[in-house]
Amino acid sequence: SQLLADRVKALTPSSTLAITAKAKELKAQGKDVIGLGAGEPDFNTPNHIIEAAYESMKAGETKYTPAAGLLSLKNAIINKFKEDQQINYDASEVFVGSGAKHVLYCLFQAVLNEEDEVIIPAPYWVSYPEQVKLAGGNPVYIEGTEDQSYKITPEQLEKVINSKTKAIIINSPSNPTGMIYSAEELEALAKVCLENNILIVSDEIYEKLIYGNAKHVSIASISDEIKEQTIVINGVSKSHSMTGWRIGYAGGNKEIIKAMTNLASHSTSNPTTTAQFGAIAAYTGTQEPVEEMRAAFEERLNKVFEALNAIPGFRCIKPQGAFYLFPNVKEAAEACGFSTVDEFVTDLLEKANVAVIPGSGFGVDDNIRLSYATDLTSFETALDRIAQYVIEHS
Ligand code: PLP
Repeated sequence: SQLLADRVKALTPSSTLAITAKAKELKAQGKDVIGLGAGEPDFNTPNHIIEAAYESMKAGETKYTPAAGLLSLKNAIINKFKEDQQINYDASEVFVGSGAKHVLYCLFQAVLNEEDEVIIPAPYWVSYPEQVKLAGGNPVYIEGTEDQSYKITPEQLEKVINSKTKAIIINSPSNPTGMIYSAEELEALAKVCLENNILIVSDEIYEKLIYGNAKHVSIASISDEIKEQTIVINGVSKSHSMTGWRIGYAGGNKEIIKAMTNLASHSTSNPTTTAQFGAIAAYTGTQEPVEEMRAAFEERLNKVFEALNAIPGFRCIKPQGAFYLFPNVKEAAEACGFSTVDEFVTDLLEKANVAVIPGSGFGVDDNIRLSYATDLTSFETALDRIAQYVIEHS
């Protein structure tokens, strides 16, 4: 079409949204569909956060703020970085934007030139490649294979680095796999990045959702040298169940933060003022609700994990974080007569009334993603339906 710019022509709506839309359509037709596609906690935002936002509005805090966020919010974020990760940032090293997704968007716009390469370990979150391409960059994929727990190795990283390599994205805990890189693994990857002057983009949005004896380490906390070369991305969406508030942030190099601020100043301006006051309460108030939600997710995970793995042809590594299960279902799909997992997923929705997300959108064709950010009864019913479907069709 002559109407559209080249840069948006190749954009596809996220696979997450496509299947969710189809599930909604079937529900509207009266079908009893269970959706396991959710990318957000199923809890409401903790009440003290809602109250703080409401009080701020009544007190007249309803105007523009600085483009990169209120100093009081930046200070709350700086304290959080200090307490949780022992990383020290100055206010000039913090940018607050309209959700982590928007912060990542500004970051790629700020650092990428045409043809710059960004290394994206697969499985990856669906928006990374599109955002890199929108900024003129080229995504370069490395596969974190199943036998590597879906994580990449320093050797794999070294192989793809060339003069065009600009950055790498590390997402730990990972969406969709729930895997976490250990301190040692991060150190080894960081060493390669330092030697080759590669910017590390560390997306830590699922930091607070970790299970068992897993531990989250920020790659930026390893050394001052690595901190200088890392942009940490985080936000309150997943930790405080604030997906609709749209507050995310970045910590890192001053020059990059300033460029991101300039970009925001000519596009979104500040993130919503009321939401910023909510985020201040999220970080300065009690963290008990964060732990309660985390514990609820862990309980669900432990209740459903065995049943998922017991489905014939399903094979899942136990997630250490986030709220997704990412089983390899290639064998089940084949046993049911499908050559692709995508077709299997479509049929599951139509015949078993369960909506899951095909792995192809995350760069891995043999898997599906199921979210347990849904009530336990629905999840267990969905698993029963999938198991029955697989047994009947194979
Ligand atoms: N990064 C990852 C890995 C995510 O899964 C998500 C949300 O799905 C985001 C970033 C974006 O979060 P936000 O709601 O803050 O934009």
